[in-house]
Amino acid sequence: MKPLARFAIPVVKARELIAELRIEDPSEIEIDLIAAHLGVMVQETEMVGSDGRMMRIDGAARISVRKDIKFPGQKRFVIAHELGHVLLHPKLRQIDELSLSQASNWSLNQEPEEIEANLFAAEILMPKSLFLPRIQGREPGFALFNELAGEFGTTVTAVAIQFIRYTREECVLIASRKGQRAWFHTSEAFSFRLRDEMEIHEFTCAHELESEGKNTVRGDDVPAGSWLKGYSTTDNMECVTEDAIWSARFGALSLVWIKDDI
Ligand SMILES: [Zn+2]
Repeated sequence: MKPLARFAIPVVKARELIAELRIEDPSEIEIDLIAAHLGVMVQETEMVGSDGRMMRIDGAARISVRKDIKFPGQKRFVIAHELGHVLLHPKLRQIDELSLSQASNWSLNQEPEEIEANLFAAEILMPKSLFLPRIQGREPGFALFNELAGEFGTTVTAVAIQFIRYTREECVLIASRKGQRAWFHTSEAFSFRLRDEMEIHEFTCAHELESEGKNTVRGDDVPAGSWLKGYSTTDNMECVTEDAIWSARFGALSLVWIKDDI
């Protein structure tokens, strides 16, 4: 991920808030109270087709979040996303509607304001100062992401993306659906290219997940060429580690980790 200069701003804003509120533990990140501290009212309402909404009337902002979102972590992320718009886009956005499809859009090919709101949300819920010590020396994968999603009260996908942002390991997170790659995020250290074909290769865990209806598949011996450009799909000496989970919203989500030199 090559961050543009403007994308540094939401991260800085979130860190400033964390410092100002003297937050030292994930349990202290109460997003409703942070909103209240900023004079923003948060309410839960019945909504159809949307997860959240931000409205600004006469300069006062109000955030609504869909009442029947099942997971508290997802609710918190929606509130944090809308709070990002409140702080970052005072002139641009008077109304923001977080549609169901937008709420699961982690692609970098979307409006920059949406990326900024997601970056703010990720950093306020998982500030680097608290997140980094919890990933250092840990094995990359969904076991860790699930644990951190619980501790930080956010979604597994949001954790996976924050992990990609801060890890020193060579990793790529890839979402795919119906056998096609949808989007991916690479860690800073990642020095490979994904294969040109958008179809998911049959030797990947993502393929096994979708074709066999499984919820999780992990493999340490996935041929490097099934994900990476310039590698063989049959050479079992060049392997990557893949950990994949099934998500109703995304389809397959794969973490591909270059564990050993290839
Ligand atoms: Zn938005």
